[in-house]
Amino acid sequence: MDRRDVVIIGSGCAGHTAALYTARAKLNPLVLEGHEPGGQLSLTTLVENFPGFPDGIQGPELIANMRRQAERFGAEYKLAHVTAADLSKRPFTLQVGKDAVETQTLIIASGASARWLGLPNEQALIGHGVSSCATCDGFFFSGKEISVIGGGDSAMEEALFLTRFATKVTLIHRREEFRASKIMLERAQKNEKIQFLTNTIVEDVYDASQREVTGLKLREVNNGKSWNFPTSAMFLGIGHIPNAKIFEGQLDTDQDGYLETTNFIFTKVPGVYACGDVQDRRYRQAITAAGSGCMAALEVEKFLEDQGH
Ligand code: NAP
Repeated sequence: MDRRDVVIIGSGCAGHTAALYTARAKLNPLVLEGHEPGGQLSLTTLVENFPGFPDGIQGPELIANMRRQAERFGAEYKLAHVTAADLSKRPFTLQVGKDAVETQTLIIASGASARWLGLPNEQALIGHGVSSCATCDGFFFSGKEISVIGGGDSAMEEALFLTRFATKVTLIHRREEFRASKIMLERAQKNEKIQFLTNTIVEDVYDASQREVTGLKLREVNNGKSWNFPTSAMFLGIGHIPNAKIFEGQLDTDQDGYLETTNFIFTKVPGVYACGDVQDRRYRQAITAAGSGCMAALEVEKFLEDQGH
């Protein structure tokens, strides 16, 4: 049995920062990377709002740097996914496949995963023209007309990125107003390759029988009219769902599944802290995730000290 003072679940911005701080405190942290190593930053392109990089930095490069920095001080990484957790007594027990890990403290930095629309044919076409990752799959649609769904920063970012490949990008949003920041929205609006379809809902995606996307069934919200819209791909930018399911019944969540915390990072179980997108429904930025990862690490240090470790 692997016995630790601190285990960190998740390897995005929050997890790496928690690893860096706990490693520098000589706590020998184990980071369980999860099934989306590097988190959301590893799926983005240019990050322009992380302080310290005046010309921006590629998301995957930023996340790789963070990991390297934590490893330099002794953080240990394991490509593993936690399937169950027992937080009823300390040491806490985590199930990782067939193995178990015991830990005195736990930092949950498991982030959030892409949300899907739940359309009848959506799942069947994932990987065949339905995608939640423009940077992963955009290249396959060079010279094609494609669609992006959503009205937030993610959708704008995806639409802008996809103009590198597509001849035309149609951004489809269910309302007239956008949630995206002004700067991102304006960039998308100024791009001649991007057209906007607002007040429009996607009802289904075709054609599962051909195993490729040929079009969308859309509905105009104002008049209820449905029509078929030809497109070669549907990229989703409709937000994320927090990865907190394994803590159901042990930790409190809000109605959307975000872990409830007090003073930013304290869960209701002493010695268990949550940071980054799994608990932050308000800011959801790389820099705030890093900041809360730091806070969690400092609290772990204090908690272990108070326990006489
Ligand atoms: P978000 O801000 O929550 O926006 C999600 C969008 O998807 C909203 O426009 C929402 O529509 C739409 N949506 C949600 N569920 C839908 C459904 N079932 N059907 C149709 N549309 C649906 O999420 P996000 O864009 O992923 O951004 C998350 C956070 O990351 C934000 O804080 C954002 O600022 C940040 N972020 C920043 C950058 C950047 O600065 N470069 C890039 C990406 C993300 P409604 O508006 O109608 O609710």
